[in-house]
Amino acid sequence: MNRAYSLEELLYHESVMHDRYRLGSVVAKHSCGHSYRTKRGSRKESFALEQGVLSPQTCSVCFKLRTTNGPTVVDLQTVCQAEENNNENQSYKITPDLIKAKSSFYSWLYQHLYN
Ligand SMILES: [Zn+2]
Repeated sequence: MNRAYSLEELLYHESVMHDRYRLGSVVAKHSCGHSYRTKRGSRKESFALEQGVLSPQTCSVCFKLRTTNGPTVVDLQTVCQAEENNNENQSYKITPDLIKAKSSFYSWLYQHLYN
């Protein structure tokens, strides 16, 4: 992705990527600082809607960091911050780089995770 993309195109590519990982619009926000989209219809989605800020004990990012080798996702903080901003209707600037970072983040996060 190195040419100029219109906002409409970027939003389209983002929604295709969200569909690939069955991501909904609900963002799970944990007190450890990690925020990420939950899978549509998952238990985590219900918890996030009911409870607001969730405990670090149920954070999927913390879990993956504990159970996989090292920081495999370099853009982890960038993605978590972007999802948090998006959720709180703060500045969310969609770019080709962010879509790529989100795609690798969710691929890592939800690999081998069933719910
Ligand atoms: Zn966490």
